[in-house]
Amino acid sequence: MYSKKQGAYGKIKTHKEPLSKQLSHIDEVFSAVTFLYIKPLKSNLDTPFIRETFDPDDLAFCDEILVKVSRSFAAVIRQLPSTMLVDILIFYLVLRALDTIEDDTTSFPSQEVKIKHLLNFHKTALADPTWTMDGVGEADEKLLLQKFDKCHRVFAKLSDKSRRVIIDITQRMATGMAEFVGKDLGQGTTDVDQYNRYCHFVAGLVGEGLSRLFVASGLEKASFASELFLSDQMGLFLQKTNIIRDYLEDYVDNRAFWPQTIWKKYSKTGELGYFTQQSDPEVHMRSLECLNELVTDALELAPDCLLYLSKLRCTEIFRFCAIPQVMAIATLNYCYSNSNVFTGVVKIRKGTSCKLILRTNNLDEVHDTFYQFAEGVMKKADVNRAKGVVDPSYGRTIKICETVMEITSDGHKRERKARQLPLVASLLVPVAGIAASILFNVGISKEMPKLRQNFVLLGISAYALTPYLFRTNSSGLIDSKLLESKGKN
Ligand code: CA
Repeated sequence: MYSKKQGAYGKIKTHKEPLSKQLSHIDEVFSAVTFLYIKPLKSNLDTPFIRETFDPDDLAFCDEILVKVSRSFAAVIRQLPSTMLVDILIFYLVLRALDTIEDDTTSFPSQEVKIKHLLNFHKTALADPTWTMDGVGEADEKLLLQKFDKCHRVFAKLSDKSRRVIIDITQRMATGMAEFVGKDLGQGTTDVDQYNRYCHFVAGLVGEGLSRLFVASGLEKASFASELFLSDQMGLFLQKTNIIRDYLEDYVDNRAFWPQTIWKKYSKTGELGYFTQQSDPEVHMRSLECLNELVTDALELAPDCLLYLSKLRCTEIFRFCAIPQVMAIATLNYCYSNSNVFTGVVKIRKGTSCKLILRTNNLDEVHDTFYQFAEGVMKKADVNRAKGVVDPSYGRTIKICETVMEITSDGHKRERKARQLPLVASLLVPVAGIAASILFNVGISKEMPKLRQNFVLLGISAYALTPYLFRTNSSGLIDSKLLESKGKN
């Protein structure tokens, strides 16, 4: 599944930037404030259609548990059109419940029992309205299984089409998970094929299910249901990013996914734990080479993800799909050549996340983001090279960065132009203010320095807010409301 269990968090160190450094990114501070107070993602949960269709208590449970197990996902799900929001919410919770069974390594008496629960899940959880499970998973995930009957009642009210998609994907994911239960993953997956296969089961299938649910809602073209390859790549991009970032956490949990055919080239001891010994300069160098090969492998999925996103037409669905993708490329750029991956939990700054969410409204904005992070990786690769580091993946890394930058350069140029507007506005406000104060002789009073200060503050605000005030819709995307009314005519 896209988002990780909480397992090893707490056991290992979290690499976090000090607040002073977080606050030094002034545009991110403004983005965070804007996101929290001015323009949060709108929630469509409280709409007449949803109120009339579902039991309010059951739905409230589903919504609350979603926020608890995945706050970031809850926000992107809630902004979806009300006609499909609950379908996607339940799809996520069903898979999360299945994932809780998969991740629990201590509660089942044997692997056979766990496999049986996985393989029967679509016949138990999704067929029996009274089904619940106790004592599996931890905290909120445990609660999700304990009160699964509430999810079932909401699930039962979904359309036939949506239920069929959810059952089909759940069954296939469970089969894939069961295949991996018996495998010893203490040293990762055996090769890239197995790595891809695991990612396909736990994430690629989610992509397929989502595409089919988009079609079932009528908001995306019917042809989307057959974009199986691209849907799969979307999931793989997210899953591989998580697997790369979660190296240490997964290693500590004795359930790792880095493919041996890649990492054994760099581990002198033939052990996956070799990379944790960062105080040794040779380990340090080799671990970064290994990490960079994996980041490059993941980046190679980006062109297909961008192609998938370019085919979407509904604004809200676009945002739902694109936000996790921009977070992923930001994370890959952050992980590239970053040895913190081997010594703790790495996470992009909260401010960066807010900024990315606010700047993921159309394809140009997404292209601009992908361009900047691909460029970021390329610059780091070149800085390393200039320092004399010979990274075996260097050529491959540069090639994929160039490809991504080529695909996204038009959008990047248009967005860069659009960003100059707030800059001009922010300069004009204080300049005009100070000029006016001089002209009208306000300067004689004692208030002058304070007045100037205020104009500078106004200027900064203008810089931060102009993009949101002057947003034009030339994106080619259509809001769900318009698509729905078109469908009726
Ligand atoms: Ca899992």
